Parts: sequence; C-alpha cells; structure tokens
Amino acid sequence: MASQVTFIGAGNMAGAIIGGMIDSGYLRDAITATSPSDEMLAPMREKYGIHTATDNAAAVAEADVVVLAVKPQIMQDVCAGMRDAIQARKPLIVSVAAGLPAETLEAWLGGELAVVRCMPNTPSLVGAGAAGLYANAKVSDTQRDLATELLEAAGLVEWVDDEGLLEAVTAVSGSAPAYFFLMFEAMEEAGVSLGLPADTARRLAMQTAFGAARMAMDSDKTPGELKRNVMSPGGTTERAISHLEDAGMRRIVAEAMDACAARAREMA
Ligand code: NAD
Repeated sequence: MASQVTFIGAGNMAGAIIGGMIDSGYLRDAITATSPSDEMLAPMREKYGIHTATDNAAAVAEADVVVLAVKPQIMQDVCAGMRDAIQARKPLIVSVAAGLPAETLEAWLGGELAVVRCMPNTPSLVGAGAAGLYANAKVSDTQRDLATELLEAAGLVEWVDDEGLLEAVTAVSGSAPAYFFLMFEAMEEAGVSLGLPADTARRLAMQTAFGAARMAMDSDKTPGELKRNVMSPGGTTERAISHLEDAGMRRIVAEAMDACAARAREMA
C-alpha cells in the first residue's frame, strides 16, 4: 500500500513534486495538499485529482510523510498549528524550505522526529530538478528510500551526510539555474552583436546547453575530455576557450559559488 503523503502548502514546489509523483504512477488517493484557502487547492484537485484540505492538523493525522512546502518565514507558525497532531502520529518530515535546519524544524514540531531536509531547484517544475537531501539520525532506511522515491519524481536526488553540505548543494544546484540563465543572456547579447536576430541566438544557445548537458550525462568521458574533443589545435573553439580561461572564468565561478554558500550559511 502506498504511503500517505501530506503536503503542507500547495504552491510551486509542492506542485512540482506532486506532478512528478503522479507522472511516475504514485497513487493519487494517497496524496493530500493543504493551503489556508480553497482558491489554491481547486487547481490541485482538478489537475492532479489528489485530496486537498484547509486544516493542516487534520490533514497530517493519518500521514506517513509530511512535506513542509510553505515559505520559511511562516514555517514556525505553521509548525505550531500542527504540533500536537504530528506528535500523535510521528510521520517522516520532509522539508523543502530554504535555510531552516532539521533541528529547528524538529523542535518547532515538538521534538523526536525523523526529518529529511531537501534543497531542490526550480527545474523540478519541469521534472528536471536536482536536489540535495540530508537525513537526521532518526530517519530509518525505509524512510530514506521513501524520501528518495518522492523527490526523484521531480529529478535527480543526491544525499549528503553532513547537513552543512546543503550549503554547497545550494551553490552547485539550488541557485545554479540562474548562473546558466545569465550565460544564456550573455550569449544572446553577444550573438546579437555578431549580427544574429535575438530569438535565433537565444534558441541556439539554449539548445546547445541542453545538448552539452545531455552529451556529458550520456558519456563516460569527463567534461574536460569532451571539451578537448571539440578543441582542434588552432581552431575556433580553442580560441574561445583560451579567452575564457585567460579572463579567469574558473576563478569567477569559484568566487560566485563561495559567495552563494556563505549567504546560505548566514541564512541558516
Ligand atoms: P509558493 O508561494 O508557491 O507556495 C507556498 C504555499 O504555501 C502556497 O500554496 C500557500 O497557499 C501555502 N500556505 C501559506 N500559508 C499556509 C499555511 N498556513 N498552511 C498551509 N499552506 C500554506 O512557494 P514555493 O515556491 O512553492 O516555496 C515553498 C518552499 O519551497 C519554500 O520554503 C522555499 O524555500 C522552498 N523552495 C522553493 C524553491 C523554488 O524554486 N520555488 C526552490 C527551493 C526551495
């Protein structure tokens, strides 16, 4: 029998995970999503055919997994409102909220709970997410497998064994879609300077990023080897790559990711 999963919050992130679960065949009847107003819930019912509720405490009463998918600023109040119901049931807690440590969530929900913290990213909205997961010591192997199954429905899942590493995950994947969007903007602008129409440059840049990612994922070769394979001596690619290396591309990326991880630490 499928585990009963209740999503607290029915916004973008909850929708992304629920959509993925349904696409991968998870039983609709075992999924509930909550929100204070029915306005957010009606589309969830229509699109996914899942259960919905406006009362968080009632919705977790029979849950095996409770996914916390509300904004971090309101999390403490939301936890307080369902603390007794959570303590009566002791489900696995999975949080997708940025910056809230497992220990804090556990304390807000009354203590002694199995908590998985997840750092997802926005491509999970199109089923191509990348998420880092951390489990506290109370999470069983079965619960870990269940969390993997739920989150894998929205993309790649990688476990880290130290909660602090979620800050590195934030730098490598959580915030990283925006790095690539910046690259697309820069490539489009440069393509226009070289005479291409903007939409042509944009489509070519995006398809090339998609193709490069696909090729790297399907290949046994390292990204460095794949890069060298397209760099014939004295050719066009070698000229472009030399320019990027000489201009400090690696240092700039490292500094940006250090700044990202430092900000994640400040917010924790
Ligand atoms: P969102 O605003 O789309 O959704 C939040 C939902 O919470 C809404 O459906 C709202 O109705 C509901 N809500 C508000 N008060 C509630 C309450 N008292 N009880 C139950 N539900 C309530 O937000 P989102 O983008 O889905 O973000 C949700 C969480 O996911 C956040 O903690 C965020 O840090 C995390 N996250 C989001 C992204 C992202 O790309 N969107 C990435 C990483 C992490």
